[in-house]
Amino acid sequence: MESRRFLALQEVLHRQPVEPSSSEKTISSYYGSDVFGYDAMKEHLSEEAFAMVMNAIENSVPIERKVADQVASAMKAWASAKGATHYTHWFQPLNGTTAEKHDGFFEPSERGRAIERFSGSQLVQQEPDASSFPSGGIRNTFEARGYTAWDPTSPAFVFDKTLCIPTIFVSYTGEALDFKTPLLKSIHALDKAATDVCQYFDKNVTKVIATLGWEQEYFLIDAALFNVRYDLQQTGRTLLGASPAKGQQLEDHYWGSIPARAAAFMRDFEYQSHLLGIPVRTRHNEVAPAQFECAPVFEEVNLAVDHNQLLMDVMDKVAIRHNLRVLLHEKPYAGVNGSGKHNNWSMATNTGKNLLSPGKTPKTNLQFLTFFVNTIKAVHEHADLLRASIASANNDHRLGANEAPPAIMSAFLGEQLSKILDDIEKSVSDKKMTPEEKTALKMGIGKIPDILLDNTDRNRTSPFAFTGNKFEFRAVGSSANCSGPMTTLNAIVAEQLIQFKKEVDALIHKNIEKDEAIFQILKKYIVASKKIRFEGNGYGEEWKKEAKQRGLNNFNTTPQALDAFVSKTTLKLFEDLHILSHREQEARYEIALETYTKKIQIESRIIGDIVMTQIIPSAIKYQKILVDNVSGMKTILSTTDFKKASDVQIDTIKEISERVSIIKTEVEKMIEERKKANNLEGAKKQAHAYCEKVKPCFEVIRYHVDKLELVVDDAMWALPKYREMLYLK
Ligand code: ADP
Ligand code: MG
Repeated sequence: MESRRFLALQEVLHRQPVEPSSSEKTISSYYGSDVFGYDAMKEHLSEEAFAMVMNAIENSVPIERKVADQVASAMKAWASAKGATHYTHWFQPLNGTTAEKHDGFFEPSERGRAIERFSGSQLVQQEPDASSFPSGGIRNTFEARGYTAWDPTSPAFVFDKTLCIPTIFVSYTGEALDFKTPLLKSIHALDKAATDVCQYFDKNVTKVIATLGWEQEYFLIDAALFNVRYDLQQTGRTLLGASPAKGQQLEDHYWGSIPARAAAFMRDFEYQSHLLGIPVRTRHNEVAPAQFECAPVFEEVNLAVDHNQLLMDVMDKVAIRHNLRVLLHEKPYAGVNGSGKHNNWSMATNTGKNLLSPGKTPKTNLQFLTFFVNTIKAVHEHADLLRASIASANNDHRLGANEAPPAIMSAFLGEQLSKILDDIEKSVSDKKMTPEEKTALKMGIGKIPDILLDNTDRNRTSPFAFTGNKFEFRAVGSSANCSGPMTTLNAIVAEQLIQFKKEVDALIHKNIEKDEAIFQILKKYIVASKKIRFEGNGYGEEWKKEAKQRGLNNFNTTPQALDAFVSKTTLKLFEDLHILSHREQEARYEIALETYTKKIQIESRIIGDIVMTQIIPSAIKYQKILVDNVSGMKTILSTTDFKKASDVQIDTIKEISERVSIIKTEVEKMIEERKKANNLEGAKKQAHAYCEKVKPCFEVIRYHVDKLELVVDDAMWALPKYREMLYLK
């Protein structure tokens, strides 16, 4: 019987690129046509209802029930015309995916007929049972109800013939059970804090939004190969597999000509994304073979997060019709690069100004420096929390692995801006500044835009890099919901800006002129946050040493990193800003630990399963052939000839026996460690045991399995190999 692997390989040979369903029209002619956005609302809503929804979007003013009825009815008419028969509240529970439960628009009416209906109350709030999502103990059975509530700031859309309404998801007691609720609160906190600070510079600023442009990396694999790799199917990564002779050494994949099948897939999912108003614009091959990236134009952060979550779902679905599977895992393959999701973040005002983009005058540049320095100070104060916000079992494979930023948090500013901060530090005195000093300083900062124009400084090894007009948080994992890190960033910068305003106001109160007060506080922050600034190579061993001397933490594993979730400073931060209560934050900590444990537990079970039922049997079958051959030779050859002829085979026979025996022993040890870990009390202890006791067994098992792969007859090897999976044309 031919192995499943060989059947899969034959299937792959016959694959033709599936051409996308997209039409040839210009993108602008269909962009956003499946979104109940500005134009659709303008067309379908009364003037009053339209004005009220816009007010809700722009100023968070609640929508009256009467108007909600109108909006619902218009949405239904619009969605039905697009073929939608069902609607769903679409939300982001803490398991990292998106959740949907479809309900039909129709209702049975008299005499066996049905009518279509969708009311304001159905739009505004639902009470799905949804009791199986992680809640970290927030939902006890007696209060098990969970509610979803409409988020009008992210427009409804039609996907797969279903009207999807973005919502938050909270418990009966109002506690957040999702990613969106705290994100929206952090957006509000940052808006208030940043708008207040903007008043020093421009009275016309009444609103500040956070902006996010994510860059999504992913791998593609043929579906037939994916289907016979249970590890990929169930965990998203290959737990076993020898490195191919040719991986990414030649650097010939990065930005190379896009393989035809991948290009067809890209055109297809981009078309679907454009219908949904997801502004994906950039596509290219990434560093590893069969690895790619797409990036949109940046948007308001809440919308950008929804779009990223939706895009991951769209990609997954579209891949299937191309006989491909998309791998969003942070590390599908050992030995080649993993995938991240750079989060480009900034703040923009209602007056159209990017607060992290220097202006043309000293005044606008003082504003730029204010937001720039405050962000760095915020990162300095909450570096450990930022690290925790991107911690996951998957991402542990990347951080610190010399392909992704280290687990040590630091900020890269570039040479010119570093120099400007150093200059401020030197030239601003704590005493009153002379007019000459002030002029010199202003002249200096007046030059910033020119400097930045040719500031092509790029440091790929920094987890948090300033790139001209935004910060790029590079350590985020490719499968992550961006909400976690973005909520954190919004919150820490909001807290910092509130503090800044307090300190500047105190100086102004002492009759120090405003600009000088600002300079003095900025100087103080520059001095205080120095240790977080690092311009060198983040991959180097020296940095690890230096970081340690500076007192920066290097949390290599998720269980270690997660402690910062429940530190006093974190709990206070989220509580003071009304983003998450202690109980909500502690629940998130529990969930993160439990998720970690479960992931490692699943991986461990799959390794055991594959090794015992696929790897060892293949190895033994091959060994039997060798044994038969050797004993056959013994009957026909002279003793001297036999010795010569059989030596090599006997070595292989022995090698197989030794490796199989080590593998079996290690699998048994791993199972024992799992049992011990499962008996421990508390999520923290369990996560540590899985990390420190169970996971190390993976490496030993893998080492010997990968060696066996190199000696066993290729035709007998059960699993698709790296050289096959990483090849896509
Ligand atoms: P890279 O060289 O890292 O690919 P790009 O300039 O192409 O950098 O931008 C990457 C991402 O940054 C894009 O998604 C882009 O929309 C986003 N971006 C640009 N400006 C901003 C901003 N002000 N706020 C947030 N994201 C931004
Ligand atoms: Mg980037």
